[in-house]
Amino acid sequence: MGSAPRRIQVLLPLPLSGPFDYLVEQDVVLVEGDFVTVPLGSRTLQGVVWNMAPEKSEVPLAKLKPIQGKLDLPALPPTLMTFIDWVASYTLSPLGAVLKMAVSVPRAFNRQKKKTFYRLASDLPEKLTEGRRTVVAVATGDLPMALKTWAELAAVGEGVVRGMVKAGQMIAVELTGDDPYPAPDADHPGPALSDEQEKAAAHMREMVRRDAFKPVLLEGITGSGKTEVYFEAVAAALRADGGQILVLVPEIALTAQWLERFEVRFGAAPVVWHSELTPAQRRRAWWAVGQKNIEGRARVVVGARSALFLPFQDLKLIVVDEEHSGTFKQEDGVMYQGRDMAVVRAMQAKCPVMLASATPSLETILNAEAGKYDWLYLGERHGSAVLPDMAAIDLRAHKLDSGTWLSVPLREALAKNLERGEQSLLYLNRRGYAPLTLCRTCGHRMECPHCAAWLVEHRKGGKLICHHCGFSCRTPEICPECESKDSMVACGPGVERVTEELQELFPEARFAVMASDEVTGPTEMREMVTRIANHEVDFIIGTQMVTKGYHFPMLTLVGVVDADLGLGGGDPRAAERTWQQLEQVAGRAGRAERPGRVLFQTYAPEHPVMKALISGDGQAFLEREAEDREQQLLPPFGKLAAIIVSGADFNAVAKTARRVSALSPKDDGITVLGPVPAPMAYLRGKHRFRLLIKAEKQVRLQNIMRQWLNSCDLERGVSLQVDIDPYSFF
Ligand code: ADP
Ligand code: ZN
Ligand code: ZN
Repeated sequence: MGSAPRRIQVLLPLPLSGPFDYLVEQDVVLVEGDFVTVPLGSRTLQGVVWNMAPEKSEVPLAKLKPIQGKLDLPALPPTLMTFIDWVASYTLSPLGAVLKMAVSVPRAFNRQKKKTFYRLASDLPEKLTEGRRTVVAVATGDLPMALKTWAELAAVGEGVVRGMVKAGQMIAVELTGDDPYPAPDADHPGPALSDEQEKAAAHMREMVRRDAFKPVLLEGITGSGKTEVYFEAVAAALRADGGQILVLVPEIALTAQWLERFEVRFGAAPVVWHSELTPAQRRRAWWAVGQKNIEGRARVVVGARSALFLPFQDLKLIVVDEEHSGTFKQEDGVMYQGRDMAVVRAMQAKCPVMLASATPSLETILNAEAGKYDWLYLGERHGSAVLPDMAAIDLRAHKLDSGTWLSVPLREALAKNLERGEQSLLYLNRRGYAPLTLCRTCGHRMECPHCAAWLVEHRKGGKLICHHCGFSCRTPEICPECESKDSMVACGPGVERVTEELQELFPEARFAVMASDEVTGPTEMREMVTRIANHEVDFIIGTQMVTKGYHFPMLTLVGVVDADLGLGGGDPRAAERTWQQLEQVAGRAGRAERPGRVLFQTYAPEHPVMKALISGDGQAFLEREAEDREQQLLPPFGKLAAIIVSGADFNAVAKTARRVSALSPKDDGITVLGPVPAPMAYLRGKHRFRLLIKAEKQVRLQNIMRQWLNSCDLERGVSLQVDIDPYSFF
């Protein structure tokens, strides 16, 4: 008491570039990472103590306000704070915006009472009463449970359990938060691994045992059993007391099969983390992951990229499954590449990180070739399965009848497969019925009023929908331009339309459409996957949703409706991405005893992507891609960043974009292209310009861009979005 209050810095979860200074009494015990409430203007906000001993500050002590209180929450672990700092500075995002991703847990801040849970003592006497024996029998490993839960599970009175507590046969555990999760059991019997799998697994176990940072690429053809291999790494990490494991997957809603496999292997479910969780589920998971006490700690989290921001206490392993997937890139707010950030997180946590894929990204392959990553390879499919046969159908030779999308050879193959009682998959990465509706009389195209984009017809709902902003309207019967009747025609195919064509060809067959309009959540997904796996479906028609890790033993034919889709545009990764998608979708065929076949409909069978698919020589294709990109200094040979200037007023946007360009850095090794109107020049009511920044590898791009952008004044109502390592170019 008596000594002067000290200055600390508190970061608020708001889009602010740094923490604010506050005062705290000398005798208040605080550590960095603690949650506190502070005044800001007339509001009271919750923030995190970011710096207990700031070096200097412009604001004099006398002007500072004191913090109001400390919240009864566990402090953010230092490794998470370091990670937040790193992500903000790498992506040039406001520090507070990154913090927000780590603390956006509704109701997490509610005061959590300490509760007493109980677990069995390790040395139980041989002889127990009948009642106590039933209690022992319902235990799930070491999982602490509430007294009531024990009694309920064992169907005995609570007195029995209480008696065990008194006798020292149950140990009390004080935990904060909701019920703990059952711990997955590393020693639960797993499948016997093949020699190839065992070799890879042994390497990974060794990496986990070494307990040091090391990225490992696990490359393996589709169906080679990569999951079983990285499960062995998970098991090894589980054997470390309280050690935690994070498995990132591209889209959590799509992992019904994955979760089942996990449970089979480990006898308990992992903690699931994604944006669709209810607030109560989020809170339970967040607390369990951040639990200081080993006994109540969540051990394995499987999640979307946002799981990187969970308060892990003791990370021992990170796995990124389908590491090539574009869905790891967050495309709004803080634009970060989840796979790359996973490597950073592992580096900071000093643990191994395993990147798994059948079609690794060029970035990862090159890191492996350079020896920066260890490289494990699985070249055989599990059991007797072999890779499917691939062939192109040249649509120049096999012309499509007007208004149809399936060529004669594809139709014949589908008919044969149906006769044999096997399943077929048609892949078309386009939702809805038709991508364009136009007037036959005047040529008017139905466009979104808020975006420079066509409206996509969804015939089932009788609607036209903008896939960029969600705008929708009824499909018009009269042309809004020339008022002709019955003049609107659908152009091009979507999955709905292909389904219609199939239904006409095979009226007796059973269909399942796998697209986000039909499969709206994890429950629907689980149902559909079960239906397909039980062979209640003959034809699956799907968008990108089907390319993710599914395993359907009866699926033997894959038809790609439009293999050329996705090759155009200004995206430097277009060819690589198309190759990855088609290779993945092809990988769904023939995963069990029956051999698989894949047919691509294309107008360009000579394109390197098609050639790579058909010849099976992905290696040569990637080498060529690498050469091309090296010549053009594109990633990973050079650095790339984008700036998107947007706003409702066209002139203000154009003016700002020109100003940003005029102030662009003249440093060696940097080229600024643009500004040009973005391909999506108008989106959600905002005009958009883009600049593209190319830099040589050694350039310290973030530093230069930070200075540059700080010097640019924005016109009113105009905002500027920075995208480091852009993956989309619209
Ligand atoms: P990938 O992810 O490499 O495409 P998966 O891990 O999905 O391959 O494995 C393909 C199929 O083979 C799955 O059904 C899986 O359960 C099975 N499988 C893989 N390895 C084994 C094994 N050692 N024992 C039994 N089944 C296995
Ligand atoms: Zn018209
Ligand atoms: Zn729109």
